[in-house]
Amino acid sequence: MTRPNRPIYLDNHATTPADPRVLAAMRPWWEDNFANPGSVEHGMGREAEAAVAEARAHVAALIGAEPNEILFTSGATESNNLAIKGAARFAARQGSERRRVITLATEHKCVLESVKDLAAEGFAPVILPVRPDGLLDLSDLEAALAAEPTLLVSVMAVNNEIGVVQDLSEIGALVKAHGALFHTDAAQAAGRIPLDVAEIQADLVSLSAHKIYGPKGIGALYVRRRPRVRLAPLFSGGGQERGLRSGTLPAPLIVGFGEACRIAALEGMLDAGRIAGQRDRFRAALEAAVPGLRINGSEQARVAGNLSLSFPGGVTAQDIMAAAPEICVSTGSACSSAEVEPSYVLQALGLPPEQARATLRIGMGRFTSPLDVDRAAAALAAAWRRAMESSDNRDAPGQNPRASAAE
Ligand SMILES: *Cc1c(COP(=O)(O)O)cnc(C)c1O
Repeated sequence: MTRPNRPIYLDNHATTPADPRVLAAMRPWWEDNFANPGSVEHGMGREAEAAVAEARAHVAALIGAEPNEILFTSGATESNNLAIKGAARFAARQGSERRRVITLATEHKCVLESVKDLAAEGFAPVILPVRPDGLLDLSDLEAALAAEPTLLVSVMAVNNEIGVVQDLSEIGALVKAHGALFHTDAAQAAGRIPLDVAEIQADLVSLSAHKIYGPKGIGALYVRRRPRVRLAPLFSGGGQERGLRSGTLPAPLIVGFGEACRIAALEGMLDAGRIAGQRDRFRAALEAAVPGLRINGSEQARVAGNLSLSFPGGVTAQDIMAAAPEICVSTGSACSSAEVEPSYVLQALGLPPEQARATLRIGMGRFTSPLDVDRAAAALAAAWRRAMESSDNRDAPGQNPRASAAE
């Protein structure tokens, strides 16, 4: 405990560090030209407008979209709200009879809550279960679509806790065959797996810059043009982004997001190969030291950097993290990691609560080094052994004041 060790960051699903190239690209738009990209009456404004247009093209290219199909938002939370509520409200105002909105039990909270919010507006949410490997059973989706005409289906591309990759091509084909809109939260997928809006037949795709080494506070929503998908905006205002998302465009953040997407398109698959090698090295070291360690979620359909690991021996994830304070990992999503409740995602996989409570989420990324993974595996194995010893000794009451302070 006395060693002031450099922290090792293995929480890349919560957020990623900004790539130095992203920071460099953003800097002039804070310092030299800070103009509003909407100020097209003067030269500085027009330059900022051009920089936003270039960034928009980079974001679009990463997912095979056209630039005019990309709306900038504050992040994937806003994009998911706009996609789900905006599409449902617009359809209802046009007199659509369709009320059913289908999603998965393992979605990010902002999707689940958006869908549940719609219940109060007369829509009919359907929350589908997942299989024990975390993947959607297509026959469940087919049955839900066949039971009643459906307005929208929202299925995430890559899960932020367990890293599993849903089969979006199959899902998109099924959704379109039933005439519903298809939305996917691709915050964890863009730049990590190939993603093409035509191939998956998506109508709406949510992205977040800070999950792909871009700045925090900026994201995008892809909105299909052909055939055109219509949304009701969430905000009233100056009518930016084709009236769908009012508010001054934050040019520096948008430029950083564009640069992050440009880099991801060039290097994302190289990153994935290297990260997969480090994950395997980490996993082998930890499995050798921790007999009975379990990996949650499909082994085949998963992103490179993720491991969801359940530790044996009656320990909790909090005990392990407390015994390895220099290792930055998490119990689940960053939004809910201060909760004592075990992860709803792990419970949806059928994990018993004790096993869910003994689970750590590991997220490796572009800047994870081989040394990082070796040190982290050794530190977590030692922490697990210490946690077992202290849980053996922990019979006295008042000894479980665990609540992580992560937000
Ligand atoms: C991080 C994340 C979000 C939220 O994105 P923000 O840009 O932070 O609002 C939504 N969905 C998934 C899958 C995420 O990983």
